[in-house]
Amino acid sequence: MSIKQLDNIYVSNTYKRFPVCIKEGKGSILKDDKGKEYIDLGSGIAVNTFGMCDEKWIEDVTNQLNKLTHTSNLYYTEPCVELAKILCEKTNMKKVFFSNSGAEANECAIKVARKYASIKKGEEYYNIITLKGSFHGRTITTLSATGQDVFHTQFKPLTQGFLYASPNNIEEIENILKNNKCAGIMIEIVQGEGGVNCLEEEYLKKLENLAHKYDLVLIIDEVQTGNGRTGKLFSYMHSGIIPDIVTTAKGLGGGLPIGATILGDKVKDIYTYGDHGSTFGGNPICCAGAISVIKRLDEGFLKEVLEKSKIIYDMLKDTKGITSISGLGLMIGIENQKDADEIINRCIENGVLVLKAKNKIRLLPPLNIEKENLIKALEILKKICEEDEEE
Ligand SMILES: *Cc1c(COP(=O)(O)O)cnc(C)c1O
Repeated sequence: MSIKQLDNIYVSNTYKRFPVCIKEGKGSILKDDKGKEYIDLGSGIAVNTFGMCDEKWIEDVTNQLNKLTHTSNLYYTEPCVELAKILCEKTNMKKVFFSNSGAEANECAIKVARKYASIKKGEEYYNIITLKGSFHGRTITTLSATGQDVFHTQFKPLTQGFLYASPNNIEEIENILKNNKCAGIMIEIVQGEGGVNCLEEEYLKKLENLAHKYDLVLIIDEVQTGNGRTGKLFSYMHSGIIPDIVTTAKGLGGGLPIGATILGDKVKDIYTYGDHGSTFGGNPICCAGAISVIKRLDEGFLKEVLEKSKIIYDMLKDTKGITSISGLGLMIGIENQKDADEIINRCIENGVLVLKAKNKIRLLPPLNIEKENLIKALEILKKICEEDEEE
């Protein structure tokens, strides 16, 4: 039986896979089981920061694999401490809790915000404001935080205490705050799954002010936008706002599962012994992968991310059929007159892998993608968008 057939029998039906079986890859080039090559503009959903099987990353992870693999959190280990220190130094934040995924990083942040509010304002201040169109994860609580009804149906009752506001509408937030007892607010600077929608800088500044006024814990979900994806280490850094908690995962480990909840001064000591935990969290292997990634995201590298972003905007603007382009850095949403699925399938036929977000084509290429490969893939995508328009 083919891998596709076996997958259909033995793997839970949660994913609608594209008809491609990826066998191997190097950098931004992936190869399927028939030897066909693809330029990868998805990087495993913003995970493979340095593309597939990056040599430096393999070396750093392999060194760790040969030294120490897993200890549990009952003991001190060096990679965990080193990674926490780097993340704090690069963000000016204070402490880190490690987990294994974006959902867990957010779950941790929600618990911190609730405990903070419970101590400072009272247990009834448990509500957390999130935005419509957001995506924060698949656990029952992060699903509740996710401001999209489509994810909620058939999984109720959800965790209580989440209130949804429209993005870029500060009055709605003010109204919610006047009428509800709130612990915090959680946002994505660029909504990923929600359609690559950016929050406005002025809105972010006002949110920050409201967070101060009401003593809210301001949580930025950087699971997708973090780790250089938008051309800054974290996307909140474009605006200069100062969050209380930053959560991240996806690209942090460069292909290994790791989540981080980075805590600012206000909440750094909210947790005490026994409040939270994770068996795998801070695992030496995943931390070694993350250290390898974070150390390479220096100013020069991030500048190149922004240059490549400009290439995308320049090449795709004024393309027939494309009605809008949104996003920051190498996180781009492209709205089209034609159905996104149709374009994605045409891209696959022509050796380019792109993603979808709502009705948009979403691009999340490896951050180190060679300009030639990026341009080659964009030429194919552009042509497909134009052809579709003529039909
Ligand atoms: C992907 C994503 C998550 C969930 O991360 P998992 O690792 O799948 O649990 C949460 N928030 C945002 C913004 C994401 O893009």
